[in-house]
Amino acid sequence: MLERLRGDLHDDVIEGIVQTYREYPTTGMLVCVSGPSGVGKGTVIAALKKIMPSLEHSISVTTREPREGEVDGVDYYFRTKEEFATMLENNQILEHDVYGGNFYGTPREAIERRIGSGEDIIMDVTVPGSLSVLDKFSTSCNIFLLPPSLSELEKRLRERGTETEESMIFRSKKAIDEINQATKFDYILINKDVEQTAREIHHILIAEKLRAVRRAKENFSNQMFGQTSLRQFVIGLVNSM
Ligand code: 5GP
Repeated sequence: MLERLRGDLHDDVIEGIVQTYREYPTTGMLVCVSGPSGVGKGTVIAALKKIMPSLEHSISVTTREPREGEVDGVDYYFRTKEEFATMLENNQILEHDVYGGNFYGTPREAIERRIGSGEDIIMDVTVPGSLSVLDKFSTSCNIFLLPPSLSELEKRLRERGTETEESMIFRSKKAIDEINQATKFDYILINKDVEQTAREIHHILIAEKLRAVRRAKENFSNQMFGQTSLRQFVIGLVNSM
């Protein structure tokens, strides 16, 4: 029955779908997570990686001193201000920001290479960093994490025990600035429970991957979600033309 009605399918629609899948290379998705210091970005990303092991976390370059237990090349690439300036001059930094007197930046080459080969990458960046990524990659997805309350945020930051009083004051003021910009983000989540927030991000990423607008620009990566139905449908159409 349906096969006989094939001729009623709109040619321009079919052509659009076919072109999409023929012309665009497989590229990965960039996901930026922002939110005030102490909200739990790192912990949420670690929990998310357990659910989505293929998701890669971008390692940033920073000029701040390592905290106890932080490892160069794992948590950050710890560099001097001079080294950071040289990287900037050489166009090796995709986006950067100054936070608490230190530079933080995303290495360009790794991001471009990895999304070019279809990997999805999650980044933990400041609000301007996230907006700058969105500017450069219109299909990136940005998520803002809110604490359940300001007092809970202060508690988490204090309990972390990594900040001096001066840094605590700076990070608290900055938290208010950042929360004031939350509506610039695609998604705003309240990080009450780490596992729950990670699950919510997982669902967001599945939905984002399936959005027609994104699929018109990117082939979603099959290994990530095992979604092959639309691709197969299109291949079937191409083969029967
Ligand atoms: P922390 O010193 O707590 O590790 O990071 C301070 C702030 O810098 C956090 O808001 C974190 O999200 C942000 N940050 C870390 N890496 C980058 C980066 O590569 N670019 C930008 N713009 N912000 C970053």
